[in-house]
Amino acid sequence: VKQDGRNGLRFYAPDMQKNSERALSLATALKNAMVNGELALAFQPQLDLQQGSVTGAEALLRWQHPEWGFVSPGEFIPLAEQNGLIVNIGWWIVDRVLEQLNRLQQSGFENIVIAINVSAVQLAQPDFVARLQQRVAASGVPASRLELELTETVAMLNPEHTGEQLATLSAAGFRISIDDFGTGYSSMSYLKRFSVNKLKIDKSFIDDITDNHEDKAIVNAIIQMAKSLGMSTIAEGVETEAQLTRLRNKGCDAIQGYWFSRPLFEADFHAFIKSRH
Ligand code: C2E
Ligand code: CA
Ligand code: CA
Ligand code: CA
Repeated sequence: VKQDGRNGLRFYAPDMQKNSERALSLATALKNAMVNGELALAFQPQLDLQQGSVTGAEALLRWQHPEWGFVSPGEFIPLAEQNGLIVNIGWWIVDRVLEQLNRLQQSGFENIVIAINVSAVQLAQPDFVARLQQRVAASGVPASRLELELTETVAMLNPEHTGEQLATLSAAGFRISIDDFGTGYSSMSYLKRFSVNKLKIDKSFIDDITDNHEDKAIVNAIIQMAKSLGMSTIAEGVETEAQLTRLRNKGCDAIQGYWFSRPLFEADFHAFIKSRH
């Protein structure tokens, strides 16, 4: 390394190149991941704090590459959004979730609701709503057993259009939740007009909820606002019993997080629900 007074650059440049090379190879490999059977869904159970039972789960995408091993969705989902692959992957997820809901029904769990993450690119497809309705109708699964998670940012990108899409989906029976609530920008007036059933309080407010005064205040405010707007609340990233107790005492409806369960593959997921039944 030459001492030219710009060490920072010299150290950073190869790293950045490595990162973009990795991004490129990941994006290319992702094209084949679906057909090669490298993608799978994990299901993270959600606990209803009133009933004390599992009422739902969030479907989370997992990618196991034969050489690189597990690749985090936090890394590959943004790539799939950039190159549009998320559209096909998204339909693959919908189909797997519908199969899963059918299998749960066959096992006697006909009330479990599964939430899927919907990205802006998917929602921007003109036929998104129609195709979703078609697939759900063909599967025989009631739309009310599917929940669509949208972040505030996604919902607010094109609020007029999204509002119409959500109204149609809601009228068809789908559940709608706002993901990572509190971290993005959302207009309260849109929130009121949107057909939203549930606010998912972001993990960043939950992490220090037992000590941090501001986080306590924010979470209380979200719960109260949701109640007055007729929406339910779920806290994400709950890792301790102290967090759970606080949330329950403040009237939060449900939790999701490592305290209750990590995301589980199908067999473990079914065993988990059975053990909690
Ligand atoms: P997200 O929607 O906020 O998902 C929650 C993330 O928090 C998941 O990470 C989950 O495994 C993790 N998590 C859950 N409970 C805890 C906890 O108690 N402690 C900690 N430390 N983490 C917890 P994951 O699976 O790595 O997903 C990361 C993000 O990738 C998701 O954030 C979501 O934005 C995106 N993603 C995952 N699956 C999909 C998918 O199927 N479609 C789309 N569009 N995005 C997805
Ligand atoms: Ca989510
Ligand atoms: Ca989050
Ligand atoms: Ca989330």
